[in-house]
Amino acid sequence: MSARWFPDAMPTPAVSRETLPWWQAAAEHRLVVQICAACATPRHPPGPVCPRCGASEHRWQELSGQGTVYSYTVVHQAFLPALADRIPYVVAVHELDGADGVRFISNLVDVPAEAVRVGLRVDVVWEDMQTGLAVPRFRAL
Ligand code: ZN
Repeated sequence: MSARWFPDAMPTPAVSRETLPWWQAAAEHRLVVQICAACATPRHPPGPVCPRCGASEHRWQELSGQGTVYSYTVVHQAFLPALADRIPYVVAVHELDGADGVRFISNLVDVPAEAVRVGLRVDVVWEDMQTGLAVPRFRAL
C-alpha cells in the first residue's frame, strides 16, 4: 500500500490509446517516457508521433524517478471541495533525470510550501488512487 496525499474524489485521469502503456507502467510504479525510435528524443506526455522528427515508432524507457524542480506554484484556492483541507499544496514542473527536454507536472508532497525552490532534487513516490490507477508524485531527496 502506498501513501495517500489526495482524496478519492480527485478526478480520474483520461486514458487514450497513446497514454495507456504509460498508465499501465504507472500502475506497476514504474515511471517511463516514450523514446523516439528514429532520433532518440524522449517525450512526455505520450503521443502518436515524435515532435522533433515526425517518426511514429517509439519504445518505452524506465526512468529512475529522480529529477529537479524546474518551476512550481503553491495552490491556496481549492479547485475541488475535497481539496479544501489539503491547501496549501504544491504543483511543480520537474525535469527528470535520463529524459532531457521532458518536463513533468505533478504534485510535490511532504515538503512545506515555503521550503520548495527551483533546483530542489526530488524522487518519485507513488499514490495508489484506486485499483489499477497509481499517480506519480514527487518529494524532496
Ligand atoms: Zn524523433
